[in-house]
Amino acid sequence: MGIFEKIKELFSGSGQGPKAVGGYTRHDGQGLYVYIRCDRCGEVIPLRLRKTDEMARSEEPGYEFFVQKLVMGNQCFNRMDTRIEFDKRHEVLHSDIKGGSLVTVQEYEQLRSE
Ligand SMILES: [Zn+2]
Repeated sequence: MGIFEKIKELFSGSGQGPKAVGGYTRHDGQGLYVYIRCDRCGEVIPLRLRKTDEMARSEEPGYEFFVQKLVMGNQCFNRMDTRIEFDKRHEVLHSDIKGGSLVTVQEYEQLRSE
């Protein structure tokens, strides 16, 4: 079970309509950041996504946008096959990252300050 799944469980009892998981995105004008931890070396890689052209419209009901890309950090050659689904406010609904996992903005800030 990935960290996302654990957090989703924590929030699933709240009954707050759309099941977006807060805390995974930092919005930045026309883009937003998500943070991906490499399972192999532990590096956390900030990934900036442009809302205008990097986020595709959903192919099916249940989410509004998605991104699908290969992400590679600077410390090793682990290529993480990343797919993230977002709601219409560009909040994370679901992520599937082979070889890595999403971390929250808060975790990323804590790692940076250590
Ligand atoms: Zn790595």
